[in-house]
Amino acid sequence: MQNLQAPQWDIDSEYPALDSPELQAERQRVQALSQQLQALVPGLIGEDVLKTAQEMALLHKEASLLLGNLMSYTHLKRSTDLKNSAARALLEQLKKDAVQLEQGLQPLNQFLMHANDATFEAFLAHPDLADSHFYYRDQRINHQRVLPLEQENLLSSLELDGFQAWGNLYTNLTGSIDYDFEHEDGSRETLGVAGLLSLLSSGSETLRRRAYEGLNTVFATHEESCAAILNAMAGWRLELCQRRSHTVPTHFLSAPLHMNRMQQASLDQMIEAVGSQRALGHRALALQARVFGKERLDPWDTEAPLPELGHQTPPLSFPAAMDIIAEAFNTVDSSMGDFARLMQEQQWIDAAPLGHKTPGAFCSGFAKSRTPRVLLTWHGTQSNLITLAHELGHAFHSWVMRDMPYRETRYPMSLAETASTFAETVVRHHMLSQASSPAEKLAILWHEVAAVPRFGINIPVRYCFEKAFYEARAGRSFSPEDFCSLMADTWREWYGESISAPNERFWASKLHFYITQPSFYNFPYTFGYLFSQAIYAEQARQGEGFFDFYTALLRDTGRMPVEALVQKHFRRDVTEASFWDPCFDIMTQYVDQFEALLSEL
Ligand SMILES: [Zn+2]
Repeated sequence: MQNLQAPQWDIDSEYPALDSPELQAERQRVQALSQQLQALVPGLIGEDVLKTAQEMALLHKEASLLLGNLMSYTHLKRSTDLKNSAARALLEQLKKDAVQLEQGLQPLNQFLMHANDATFEAFLAHPDLADSHFYYRDQRINHQRVLPLEQENLLSSLELDGFQAWGNLYTNLTGSIDYDFEHEDGSRETLGVAGLLSLLSSGSETLRRRAYEGLNTVFATHEESCAAILNAMAGWRLELCQRRSHTVPTHFLSAPLHMNRMQQASLDQMIEAVGSQRALGHRALALQARVFGKERLDPWDTEAPLPELGHQTPPLSFPAAMDIIAEAFNTVDSSMGDFARLMQEQQWIDAAPLGHKTPGAFCSGFAKSRTPRVLLTWHGTQSNLITLAHELGHAFHSWVMRDMPYRETRYPMSLAETASTFAETVVRHHMLSQASSPAEKLAILWHEVAAVPRFGINIPVRYCFEKAFYEARAGRSFSPEDFCSLMADTWREWYGESISAPNERFWASKLHFYITQPSFYNFPYTFGYLFSQAIYAEQARQGEGFFDFYTALLRDTGRMPVEALVQKHFRRDVTEASFWDPCFDIMTQYVDQFEALLSEL
């Protein structure tokens, strides 16, 4: 095998080792802070209540930063060696420390939610809490929705075996399914749901079709269970919304919108904008169908890769990939290229293809040293290169915020993929400018073209389906047939004639509908994708001034709502559908270019 020169990272600059005295001391510090926090709780009903609350907040700030750092280190240790039992055991212990810290914090949170405005402002006036204003104000947005203390306590104690149990049931159910799968050569293999889902992105149409049929078979068998889970989860959430509506109305979208720091109008207008552009998605799907030699795509083709069109790229070494990325980043600004080099020189990237490494890729980092780390497994493919660019984009996002208070650097899901998707786009466009043959260009553009229906049609289907279900669920439960027909209707509404048949059991096979934390785990994807394209459009518009605009915007992603962010940096109103127009111009260019290249071949 070729030497691809993939590096391993250095994380022992943070702590010498998992069992080092330095790490132990810090863990003891967290435990001590947690105990001090607990000891202060009675003071929340005493005379010095304000002072107590402020002290608790400061203890929590220090403890959560240290605990986060310890968890990152342990998690990163484990991710390069999943068999590291010491890391695994420490992670368990740290999770217990986190629960303890959280328990000590509950009374303070309750106090701040029930406090009147004057008390709340007096609490924030402590000089050492100046970095936490956005953090606490953001939490307090929901203070009018809080229930009396005993009810909140009852609710959180029932939630684990009530609401959360439904999500666990789905995970356990889908984890236990065995399907007898037939490969192309006639050999048989027992596959689980995850195995079937991953075959949907296979290069072989036979395998994709069989995997799709397999998913339909297993989810038809388990449709009653899946329907019961969705009904119960939606019922619980809707009942909770009703209870919380005692002072201000609480909609089922209130919580997911708050989590994404967005307003309803921004979401509505974004859906309106993508809805009016769905013909562009249909065009992209028609071009994909042409590549596969079909009249229309089939429902098992939506994740299919570009077939070989006579263009083969030789394996890329890791240093060569870093050269391409640094060069591409330089086209934005030399400091962005320098940053890529710094990540390499400081050994902040782990790309070695080692046996017991965690699959996939991610960007993480340390709250104390404020240094990022990136992990992936290097095999020298083009998709590795794009993944590396993506994760370095995330790392750059945290790097430009490294001098800011940590509390102001936590951004919501709607903005989380801004820097990563932008970095991908920059690298892809740089490669496009260097590519010589139409086949090579087509391969680079494939991803952009596939993104158009993914974010412009498929994600909106999920959102509109879920919304229609929640609206109807208030009056009745859904049968499996109801779910299938609602999914099929929503699918047809968005896909039109561009796919041969609707994926009507998508409601059962898509894990995202069953996540217990935020409902509507869909619209932030489309928002994030469009937003990164809006930034890319701004680069062409602003030229020289772009980099300052870009970094200033990134620095604000953790300390203001989406509407204020757009107003401040774009001087535009994100609650107007026209904000997204430049994104659709770019997406149209991708599709046009792809079509022209396809005709050349
Ligand atoms: Zn990402």
